[in-house]
Amino acid sequence: MNEKIEKVLQALRKNNMNAFYLPDSAAVCAAVRERLFDGCTISSGGSVSLKESGVWDILKDEKYCFYDRTRPGITPEEQEEVYRKTVGCDFYFCSTNALTEDGQLVNVDGNCNRISAMAFGPKKVVLIVGVNKIVPDLKAAFLRVKTDAAPKNTVRLNLDTPCHKLGHCVALEKTSDPDWTDGCQSPSRICVNYMITAKQRDPERITVLLCGEELGY
Ligand code: SF4
Repeated sequence: MNEKIEKVLQALRKNNMNAFYLPDSAAVCAAVRERLFDGCTISSGGSVSLKESGVWDILKDEKYCFYDRTRPGITPEEQEEVYRKTVGCDFYFCSTNALTEDGQLVNVDGNCNRISAMAFGPKKVVLIVGVNKIVPDLKAAFLRVKTDAAPKNTVRLNLDTPCHKLGHCVALEKTSDPDWTDGCQSPSRICVNYMITAKQRDPERITVLLCGEELGY
């Protein structure tokens, strides 16, 4: 574990979040299994990091009650029901768009089910975060959203936004230092609500499993 990672872990703990470093995805999966219990209720964000790390496959184990809003054949009504049930879940799994060196999580959502669950509802929130998500500060975090997370997610979700074609937010066409919330006029815009997760009141609710591998975007 290098100095930067140690600094991030300490900063997260100072912000009342549990934080652990795991060298690889196998270690992350073991840490996830340790936390879950038979019959626990789970929901999640649509996260590439969960899939790449193998955590997604654990959540689907029939020992657990996983409300999967992406399950093939799910109807809009059933998806809505998943969002309602998420509030009362034992666990919520997701990643983060960026993790600052002073221990803050930055996330920008379009549908906003993920940032809602991170902020309130599920008893425990567990984040699977690759080292590629670490940035120096909030400014770099929002820039990361505009140059990496959002463009790649619009490609993944096949959304008609300027960043899908440009590879970066349209706001960066005007200036290299745009306002955090500046962006496109697209009806498919995924930058709708902007959340900074800072110091928590409950020191047991949020856990960050920081993986030594690069995961997601
Ligand atoms: S505001 Fe629009 S163009 Fe900019 S990153 Fe978000 S979705 Fe892409």
